[in-house]
Formats: sequence, C-alpha cells, structure tokens
Amino acid sequence: MKDLNELLNETIRVIPPSGIRKFFDIADEMKDAISLGVGEPDFATPWTIREAGIYSLEQARTHYTANKGLIELRYEICRYIKDKYGVEYNEKDDVLVTVGGSEALDLMIRCVISAGDEVLIPEPSFVCYKPCAIMAGGVPVIIETKEENNFRLTPEELKAKITDKTKLLILPYPNNPTGAVMSKEDLEAIADVLRGTDILVLSDEIYGELRYGEEKHTMFSAIEDMRERTVVVNGFSKTFAMTGWRLGYAVGPKEIISAMTKMHQYCIMSAPTTSQYAAVEALKNCDDDVKSMCAEYNYRRRFIVDGFRNMGLSCFEPLGAFYAFPCIKSTGMSSEEFCMRLLNEEHVAVVPGTAFGGCGEGFIRCSYAYSIKNIQEALKRISAFVERHKNN
Ligand code: PMP
Repeated sequence: MKDLNELLNETIRVIPPSGIRKFFDIADEMKDAISLGVGEPDFATPWTIREAGIYSLEQARTHYTANKGLIELRYEICRYIKDKYGVEYNEKDDVLVTVGGSEALDLMIRCVISAGDEVLIPEPSFVCYKPCAIMAGGVPVIIETKEENNFRLTPEELKAKITDKTKLLILPYPNNPTGAVMSKEDLEAIADVLRGTDILVLSDEIYGELRYGEEKHTMFSAIEDMRERTVVVNGFSKTFAMTGWRLGYAVGPKEIISAMTKMHQYCIMSAPTTSQYAAVEALKNCDDDVKSMCAEYNYRRRFIVDGFRNMGLSCFEPLGAFYAFPCIKSTGMSSEEFCMRLLNEEHVAVVPGTAFGGCGEGFIRCSYAYSIKNIQEALKRISAFVERHKNN
C-alpha cells in the first residue's frame, strides 16, 4: 500500500499545523517552564453556570437538542444581543448554536465560498481563517494591518484589495493576537466601502465583551445596512471562561444561517446538550461574573504592558481580548528565534507573531489570562533575556 500521507486530500496535506502549540509541547517537557502562551481564561467557569450544567444532568437532559440549539438558549442569545448591542435577531431563524465559535467560523466560510472566491483576511489574526478559506476552495487575500494604525483595518487598505472575485471579508475584532479594537467610527468607515457591493462579512466578535477603556464594543451588524450581509460569530469560551464546554453561536441573515444549519446537521447534529443548559444560565445571570473577570484582566493588562515598556520594548496598547503584542525588533532577532531562545534559555513560552501571519514578524503574543504571579515571573525572565541580548 502507498504511504498513507499520499492518500490524504491534497489540500489538507499542504496546510501547516497551527504555529501556536509548538512551543507548549516543548515547554510541557520542562519542569520549571512557565507560559504566557495559551489563549484561554485561567478562571474556572463561574459556579452557577457549572451548577446549571450539573442540574441538567440530574434531570436526565442527556438527549440531542434541536439542530439549531435549544430554543430557550437561542431566545437568550437574541435577548442578550438586543440588550447589549441593540441588534434584533429572531430565535427561530437567525441563530445557530455551534461547537465553539470555531465551528461557526468554519461553517460560515464553507457555506458562502465556492472555488476561486477571494476571502479578505486582515492579519495578524487568529490562525483558523486562512486554512478554513483554503479548505473551502477559496483564495485568501491577506491585508497586512500596521502598528502605526493601531492594527485596525483602514478603509483604504480594504479598498485596495477588493476585486470582482471578492466574496467575503473577515473582521477579526477585538483581535487575537494584537488586542486591537475597531471603534464605531472605524466600523462605519468600513461599511462605507462595502455599501453597494455584494461582499459578505464574517465578524468574529468572540472577545466583544472583553473591552477596556471608555468605548464599548459595537457589533458590526449594528452599523447601518450591514446586518443583511453579516454573520456575527460569538461564543462562551472567552466571556464566560467556558473553553472546555465547546459552545458558540452564529447570528445572521436567515438564508445563511439556514445553509449553515444544513451543514451542521450533517456533521455535528447538535451542540453538547449539557453545555447548552449551562449557557442559558451564563446569559441570564452572569453579568457580574463577567465584569469581575474583565476587571481582573484589565489590571493584568496594565501590569504586563508596563512591564514590557519598562524593559525597553515598545508595546502597543491592547484595548480588547487578553493579549499583549510587544515589538521585539530592537533585539535583532526574528520572532521565531526570540521565542525559541527565550524558551531554551529562560523557560518561558510565548508565541511568535508570525504564527498569526507574516506581518506578525517582529512581535510576540503574550496572553495575560494568567495569574499576576505567573505574569510577574515571566516578565522577570523575559527582562533578563532582553537585557542579555540587547546589543547582540
Ligand atoms: N475566534 C478567535 C479570535 C479566537 O481567539 C478563538 C479561540 N482562541 C476562537 C474564535 C474560537 O474559540 P471557541 O471555538 O473556543 O469558541
């Protein structure tokens, strides 16, 4: 028989694995290694949410749910969105509950992309957009965002990449890995470019509730005329510290949601039932828990950004998510080299900016979803490393 690698689908064969995990696999083998690497809350899921999950099991709610998700959960999702962002969605037609935001991203891309369609992807950004676009037969078109623009997507950059093949724009804000956000005015300028085109939008707003500073998050579909072309993806992983429950959702125009539901029916059936019951509780009663986690992230955010600046690294101020994205160009090392040597010499795992696109070169991603004690120790080691390599 042939080598099994040769029997794999050609597309999957050429897609590289995510660049995020590589350093943790090495770090896992080191006894005293510490990590600022993983993009997930260090908090346990708030107790009332866990209790709701346990209660659902006690009640023997152990069956499939409706393909689209429990109707009471879909209702709560619509209510939550209306209350927080002022956008109206109908629980019957406009919502699909998925296995994490990840599934929703994949489904949306596969449902709208045909072979050769161009997908606009601002980078640096989360690792899945590009591979999902390629696996759907699409052509990723990268828009390199810049630190001097606070890593926002500008209308000029967008305009310059639009062709008659452009089918979909991905809007990854608040952003992983930069922590960049788009204000309402920024989004309106993007909408001005899109109005009059047939370009669809996939807005990944999974960090929408983790915002710092004066301005609250604006949902892209809240911008005039954008609702009809936009699918917004969100989930429970980040806001409610529920990564392991694997629950997310998409809201959008019923035609696209119904196509996504068809796909979801065939490959998933329905998202985990226990998680769905727990999520109802999260949306109904956990605003205070989210507020206090967010306040703690904000404290750590200031601490880590100051820490990098004090060691002489420039660090853009992140206003969303839980990542800092300091610039390491002054060390003369590439991102990959910096991370590898930092891991070997100081036993600290962080992620090279290049894991999120070529324009992440010269930066590293450090998650501050870790305890202050952990962050403090990591900063101490990174500082010693930077000091040692300053003039090399
Ligand atoms: N979008 C972004 C920007 C993310 O960072 C992540 C997780 N790291 C996801 C989507 C997917 O999260 P989940 O599948 O856990 O909802």
